[in-house]
Amino acid sequence: MTDIKPKNPIPISSVRVIGRTVRVIPWSFDDADQSQDGEWSDRDGTIKVGTHLDPDTFREVLLHEIIHAVESRLGMSLRENQVVALGVGLDLVFQENPELLRLYG
Ligand SMILES: [Zn+2]
Repeated sequence: MTDIKPKNPIPISSVRVIGRTVRVIPWSFDDADQSQDGEWSDRDGTIKVGTHLDPDTFREVLLHEIIHAVESRLGMSLRENQVVALGVGLDLVFQENPELLRLYG
């Protein structure tokens, strides 16, 4: 039994992804498949993100799973390495241009 307390309470409970409300569910370390930090379920319309993650990793994992949700909504079929690359690339663009996100607020 691992005794890891969540460092990063989930700061968001849902995201809208192209007309679909996707719930963001805290994924405790004990419940998580330890080979992955997040999970997108098209069937359930949920994203799980590990509560054990540091804030930077949490943000990256959430964005990665949102890209999977976008992929699903648009009927795309991306390879996992393409999703990873898009997530890393967009995360860097958002970090380099915080004012960019305010355009959508
Ligand atoms: Zn993935």
